Amino acid sequence: MQRITILGATGSIGESTLDVVRRHPDRYTVHALTAHRQVRKLAEQCIAFRPARAVVGSAEAAGELQALLRDAGVDTEVSHGEAELESVAADAQTDAVMAAIVGAAGLRPTLAAARAGKRVLLANKEALVMSGRIFMDAVREHGATLLPIDSEHNAIFQCLPADDPRYGGGVARVLLTASGGPFRTRDPDTLHDISPDEACAHPNWVMGRKISVDSATMMNKGLEVIEAHWLFGAPAERIEVLIHPQSIVHSMVAYHDGSVLAQLGNPDMRTPIAYGLAYPERIDAGVTPLDLTLAGGLHFEKPDLQRFPCLGLAFDALRAGGVAPTVLNAANEVAVEAFLGGKVRFTDIAQLVAQVLQAAPAGAADTLDAILDADRMARAAARAAVAGLALRH
Ligand code: NDP
Ligand code: MG
Repeated sequence: MQRITILGATGSIGESTLDVVRRHPDRYTVHALTAHRQVRKLAEQCIAFRPARAVVGSAEAAGELQALLRDAGVDTEVSHGEAELESVAADAQTDAVMAAIVGAAGLRPTLAAARAGKRVLLANKEALVMSGRIFMDAVREHGATLLPIDSEHNAIFQCLPADDPRYGGGVARVLLTASGGPFRTRDPDTLHDISPDEACAHPNWVMGRKISVDSATMMNKGLEVIEAHWLFGAPAERIEVLIHPQSIVHSMVAYHDGSVLAQLGNPDMRTPIAYGLAYPERIDAGVTPLDLTLAGGLHFEKPDLQRFPCLGLAFDALRAGGVAPTVLNAANEVAVEAFLGGKVRFTDIAQLVAQVLQAAPAGAADTLDAILDADRMARAAARAAVAGLALRH
């Protein structure tokens, strides 16, 4: 029996994880579930899965959850706050932690799971983008098992040599595929008028709103380039992004002998989640089997960096190193939130990130404090820039 903690259980990845867990009651029990604000949804999950612990974002939310669980006769222990997220991630009573909080908020609990030597199922790419070296060091030093859940990285992991899932061993390039999002072919002159709902209407994947906007700007792929760098130790010039609108080939690894290995499947996050849960075994994920005759052809093209400036900015940040990826991520989180809140335009996102990145001081990312400082400063700069833009619109 594997005991699972899900950080961000009420999100898109969290729900898909519970869907896979539900199919295998003989293999998995849920030790802890966490959410931020969606108390009712978390209560339903607690009633269905009976975790020992549940964590929410505030005392008020905790009180509400307690009342709902009491009425349902469920004795899950409820707590709240950041320290409690770290506590459930590192709990001796849990074996595996699904890191599926969105954004920088997931950094500390994900790191806590790595430091406790857990099997870490990593969906929260922002945590790794911010703290790459520290996080990978923690995994190594504390004997954690790191399994990438992001579909591209999960695909690459599956295509690398099983005995050494790191860049090397005859690998020439890592090929990250990207759908190109909803605006791949839209007239660039109309991009400034896009609404949040249009940006979140992804052609192939149903995801949380933040990552959906990131997919529309292709910042998501930029974050994934940085993620691939840390997960697999691949240098920036060996990571290539390919637009593949069908989202059937989830990524590829090119070897020196000319072989290219790919992982294919229908676009359904339950595949990488099931892989992470059962690794090195394979279990049913509830996913519709792939029928390539229905795919209508698989197409690949180079990304257009004029249309998708965020992708170029992420490569710049990776090459700059130090806290630059942290700054990129923080500015992007603020810009996306402002866009979703109707304060800035879609095209302002790249503009804001570029501006903050350019003005931010360089610095090493060798301590958690340095990373959190850079994150705070970049957020403040991005908020000031948002306020300036909002006045002008
Ligand atoms: P969602 O927005 O759907 O879910 C986010 C989860 O995090 C929710 O449970 C939410 O709680 C919780 N949360 C939000 N803010 C905080 C906070 N400040 N403190 C603690 N918890 C918080 O996101 P997704 O599931 O789409 O994405 C989760 C992560 O996985 C992201 O990093 C994303 O990049 C990555 N990912 C997602 C994919 C997908 O297909 N969705 C694919 C690949 C990677 P509440 O519901 O209560 O607000
Ligand atoms: Mg992805």
